[in-house]
Amino acid sequence: MAGQGIGTKCVQAGYTPGNGEPRQIPIYQSTTFKYATSADMGKLFDLEANGYFYTRLQNPTNDCVAAKIAALEGGTAAMLTSSGQAANFYAVFNIASCGDHVVSSASIYGGTFNLFAVTMKRMGIEFTFVQPDCTAEELEAAFRPNTKAVFGETIANPALTVLDIERFAAAAHAHGVPLIVDNTFATPVNCRPFDFGCDIVTHSTTKYMDGHGAGVGGCIVDSGRFDWTRYPERFPGLCTPDESYHGVTYTERFGLGGAFITKATTQLMRDFGSIQSPQNAFYLNLGLESLHVRMARHCENGQAVAEFLQKHPKIAWVTYPGLPGDDYYALAQKYLPHGSCGVVSFGVKGGRAAAEQFMSRLRIAAIETHVADARTCCLHPASSTHRQMSDAELEAAGVSPDMVRLSCGLEDAADLIADLEQALN
Ligand SMILES: *Cc1c(COP(=O)(O)O)cnc(C)c1O
Repeated sequence: MAGQGIGTKCVQAGYTPGNGEPRQIPIYQSTTFKYATSADMGKLFDLEANGYFYTRLQNPTNDCVAAKIAALEGGTAAMLTSSGQAANFYAVFNIASCGDHVVSSASIYGGTFNLFAVTMKRMGIEFTFVQPDCTAEELEAAFRPNTKAVFGETIANPALTVLDIERFAAAAHAHGVPLIVDNTFATPVNCRPFDFGCDIVTHSTTKYMDGHGAGVGGCIVDSGRFDWTRYPERFPGLCTPDESYHGVTYTERFGLGGAFITKATTQLMRDFGSIQSPQNAFYLNLGLESLHVRMARHCENGQAVAEFLQKHPKIAWVTYPGLPGDDYYALAQKYLPHGSCGVVSFGVKGGRAAAEQFMSRLRIAAIETHVADARTCCLHPASSTHRQMSDAELEAAGVSPDMVRLSCGLEDAADLIADLEQALN
């Protein structure tokens, strides 16, 4: 599939049926797989043969869809997870354990912030949060000898800051650690972080990839380019024998292209079990087949709505990376030249109360804890997704009390604008 356009990959990658086989990806709705002898199965457990034995670890339907996402991102291997939260947890926990440290952008999804700052902290992993536009000195000062990774979001949810991927990748690599980027909002249609030095990409496929509000899911993709073997003492889990898996050394057995995802599958998926159901993987694939067509329309609607809001007298501020004058316009032009996403953040004059009143008057845009759906929806982050944060944490995450996050769907832009206008009036 190398060399083909992103649209062709959205439609075709990951599954090529043979003569007389189903045209659509089959749903392998089976927990288990049959073998003739115990010895045959034993080879799978020893990772000596490739194959399926139990759907908690791997399932053929999931693997086809993961292979499609790997092709879209330009990676060497990928795995599906039950949610975006599971994807980000696995991506970090696969290389950081108790006593380790991670540098993360402060401008990230509220759920991820809580996962890092509260839950993973309880597991003994410390995070230092930096602003995406911090100075070189601030970024440098965030690293410690036990730092294992750097994390950020291509376009942050909901702050809509754009990560300077090349800059964060250079800092990570100077300290011998990988850059992990959550590419949920941009999708590989609008940005491929691997092209800018990122090493591992994660997704909440729940958002644009699924695109129809049908299934919660996640994905991790490895670029295969980070050389763990240069730092064996920093990444012992990848470079020394895994006693819980018959002494396999992942980098030796699976190479740089396969080590990270194989370890995440055989250790983390085995032990935590956050697998995506094959049925949901099938729905996800239906979404992926039109991702390139839908992203263009989401961006067109986002741009039209952002330009309308910017001129409206009752709107205090608008954040959209595609607006000239936006703080992240220049970075968006570099990393997202074909468009950013359909999500627009703005403040209604009158603060928190005005924002909530305005939202209750909307007729097309529904109030939902969701984003990146075919149907336009909106949310007040300070009273929902970011409710658990202190005012200082809210400010660091770029969320103000008057912020409304509007996710433009696939409707007609004129109708979305008319809906906003009547609610503002
Ligand atoms: C929604 C979201 C997540 C969490 O994904 P779930 O599928 O809801 O678990 C992670 N990162 C970003 C950027 C998101 O928007």
